[in-house]
Amino acid sequence: MPTIVVGGRAYECPPGATLLEGLEAHGVPMRSSCRAGSCQSCMVRAVSGDVPEAAQAGLKATLRARNYLLACVCRPTGDMEIVTDDDAITRVPAEVVEIGELTPDVMSIRLRPEAPYEYRAGQFLRLYRDDQTSRCYSLASVCELDRDIELHVTRVPQGQVSNWIHESAHLGQTMTISEATGNCFYVPGKPEQPILLVGTGSGLGSLLGIVRDALRQGHTGPIRLYHGTLRRDGLYGADRIAPLAHEHPNLRYVPCVLREEAPPEGSQGSVVQVALTQNQDLTGWRVFLCGDANLVAGAKREAFLAGASMDAIHADPFLPS
Ligand SMILES: Cc1cc2nc3c(=O)[nH]c(=O)nc-3n(C[C@H](O)[C@H](O)[C@H](O)COP(=O)(O)OP(=O)(O)OC[C@H]3O[C@@H](n4cnc5c(N)ncnc54)[C@H](O)[C@@H]3O)c2cc1C
Repeated sequence: MPTIVVGGRAYECPPGATLLEGLEAHGVPMRSSCRAGSCQSCMVRAVSGDVPEAAQAGLKATLRARNYLLACVCRPTGDMEIVTDDDAITRVPAEVVEIGELTPDVMSIRLRPEAPYEYRAGQFLRLYRDDQTSRCYSLASVCELDRDIELHVTRVPQGQVSNWIHESAHLGQTMTISEATGNCFYVPGKPEQPILLVGTGSGLGSLLGIVRDALRQGHTGPIRLYHGTLRRDGLYGADRIAPLAHEHPNLRYVPCVLREEAPPEGSQGSVVQVALTQNQDLTGWRVFLCGDANLVAGAKREAFLAGASMDAIHADPFLPS
């Protein structure tokens, strides 16, 4: 049984358990959120021992080189010593410069970082309520086009961070954010490739950022954007998408409403079903999925079955912490 040393104490990690599970079983306090190797909340650094390759998947080369790893997907193969310091993640203060209501449940918040802040549209950051409490939010802005960072935040009933943002965010306030991370973004190189984007609720934010980024970089292939909500008042963004679609006829936007009648340009029904019925063969397509975690998981499967290759499907499930 591998022995894990952390904070000067040794703990045994049960065979097959992840580092995160093994340490939590001994009551070691560990940060975690998605527990699926995506959000990077559980990043730690190995001081000694072999780091399994899978534990570093998705990390920047600079972090890999420094032996950082994700505890939630690390299954130790031998003894390790780790440090759980937070040095791996740069925190940046950012001023709240604009707040807006997008729907009764979703607000937009614009932040102006106090230091240069680089990101790719569609990545996500962590927003800290305090030292111990943070949540991931996707970037709805485009670094090269927008002066400020934009986030779209859905209020979750009793949610510690989303409610705090909805109730207390105010102009001039300084918030703390992490650097941006994640792999759900547009990579140039195949300008004619068709792109399908499917999102729910505030998942529209990062999809819209990805669309603007793709168009900015000269994407000429069809871009189909499907946004799903339960009720009609959950739709937003048409005022920004319409001018884009006017300027770029390769962009098509379809709002989908599950439980009420859809607007004339949209469809009633499940956003995944509508998107996959209207685009039945996804062979050679690039696919972006964002929002509700169950829906994203189902959509990923459906897109694969419709012909999209797994490495062309980019997903950002909004997994609760
Ligand atoms: C990569 C990533 C990107 C994300 N991007 C966004 C984004 O752009 N916009 C956004 O609004 N959110 C996003 N999320 C979700 C966000 O990180 C938080 O999980 C969400 O805001 C709830 O946090 P909270 O502190 O308010 O609720 P918590 O205090 O964590 O949870 C309160 C209760 O609500 C439940 N709960 C939490 N989330 C949900 C949910 N989505 N649906 C139903 N029940 C839930 C919890 O299980 C708990 O019982 C993202 C998540 C990930 C992992």
